[in-house]
Amino acid sequence: MKAQPPASHFIDGEYVEDIDGTAFDSIYPATGEVIARLHAATPGIVEKAIAAAKRAQPEWAAMSPTARGRILKRAAEIMRERNRELSELETLDTGKPIQETIVADPTSGADAFEFFGGVAAAALNGDYIPLGGDFAFTKRVPLGVCVGIGAWNYPQQIACWKGAPALVAGNAMVFKPSENTPLGALKIAEILHEAGLPKGLYNVIQGDRTTGPLLVNHKDVAKVSLTGSVETGRKVAGAAAAQLKHVTMELGGKSPLIVFDDADLESAIGGAMLGNFYSTGQVCSNGTRVFVQKGIKDKFLSRLKERTEKIVIGDPMDEATQLGPMVSRAQLDKVFSYIEKGKAEGATLLTGGGIPNSVPSEGTYIQPTVFADVTDEMTIAREEIFGPVMCVLDFEREDEVIARANGSEFGLSAGVFTSDLTRAHRVVDQLEAGTLWINTYNLAPVEVPFGGSKQSGFGRENSLAALNHYTELKSVYVAMGKVESPY
Ligand code: NAD
Repeated sequence: MKAQPPASHFIDGEYVEDIDGTAFDSIYPATGEVIARLHAATPGIVEKAIAAAKRAQPEWAAMSPTARGRILKRAAEIMRERNRELSELETLDTGKPIQETIVADPTSGADAFEFFGGVAAAALNGDYIPLGGDFAFTKRVPLGVCVGIGAWNYPQQIACWKGAPALVAGNAMVFKPSENTPLGALKIAEILHEAGLPKGLYNVIQGDRTTGPLLVNHKDVAKVSLTGSVETGRKVAGAAAAQLKHVTMELGGKSPLIVFDDADLESAIGGAMLGNFYSTGQVCSNGTRVFVQKGIKDKFLSRLKERTEKIVIGDPMDEATQLGPMVSRAQLDKVFSYIEKGKAEGATLLTGGGIPNSVPSEGTYIQPTVFADVTDEMTIAREEIFGPVMCVLDFEREDEVIARANGSEFGLSAGVFTSDLTRAHRVVDQLEAGTLWINTYNLAPVEVPFGGSKQSGFGRENSLAALNHYTELKSVYVAMGKVESPY
């Protein structure tokens, strides 16, 4: 098989198999071909991974941040050297076009290792607090064993975005990738060890929604960071709360992208397309509710249709391909069901909505799809579709569009296109979201905190902010004189 790893799990510095675990196939979404067969973790494998992490963590935490950071930076270098190989694996794992994976997936993972490796020496310092003779100081200490649970849209990036801050802060990690994309995280574990990571600190185990709870409920786990749907987030946060564990929740969205009539039209259309069709629409922060001011509606829609119909769909390994298949048949069926709902509820299908011509019949392909005349109440404007389906809604006034943009249970992201910078700032100030863009969309460099508000989650990935979510503060009061006691 094309991408068969040496074994299903990577624990304590080596590949480990346990064929008692339920077997499952990894499928290349472009052709339906089975590319690897793996086994979900048994409870014994889960124990083994957590025990290895628990054993290895204290010694790692005792190293200097500089020494830990050096290993992460070496891992970043290896990832960059092997960018093509890793990008091809990511394409096999997800079906995303190589044109994307080569610039967005391992490179973004490497950025995380490089950034956190680089800031380690300075960012984990504590404070000195003068108290007039006495003083106090704070220490930022690791949490212990952290669990990362990933979604299937950015498997390598998610494995690194969680692993890098966790490790550099002195924690150990057990990572469970999505059952749809089990391959990338194993390679990340391999590379970290090649870079010098002591064994036991970054472990990968396979499994699905029945495996996740074994990790989340384990008494030796101090923190859980999930990237997934709101529904899963509620379950995982609930289970973690029962044992008062730390959590980071990177969940779904239905983000608004607002285009005012003074915007640079081609940029706004480009932003809306990137924010709906990149990764075949399987991006949590996508701006799937595109609010267009009435004065430019016709121009916007006609250019959008023209540009969308030129998107090159096909073999993800062909560098000319711009849109690959959806990750799985189940996800494809879900997206088609939303397209049917959109039509039934009266939205105008501007383009797409079907299966593209000349793609393999076993491939899970779908045309990039745009609905116009969408209204706030329609199902396609309220629920996360997680596919290449853009909804265009009209608006007239600024206050009206802000209220409508905020009228969602989600709050992951939002974007504004306008040439009036004062208005841009006024609007972003009022939008209820964690990650916002002005005159662009979906850029998520490692220097900038990324995460959501409302039902889209809490905690932040990337930037120095992420380190706060993988450490806790210890405050130490130091008395310089004798104890004054009334007793
Ligand atoms: P999902 O919620 O079905 O699964 C996510 C992960 O959680 C998988 O690894 C799954 O096996 C695991 N899981 C499921 N039930 C669990 C449970 N009860 N306990 C522990 N683990 C459990 O999500 P998905 O379909 O893989 O991914 C798509 C979703 O992820 C979308 O909603 C998308 O918006 C969201 N997402 C969010 C971000 C972000 O950063 N905010 C990024 C990517 C994807």
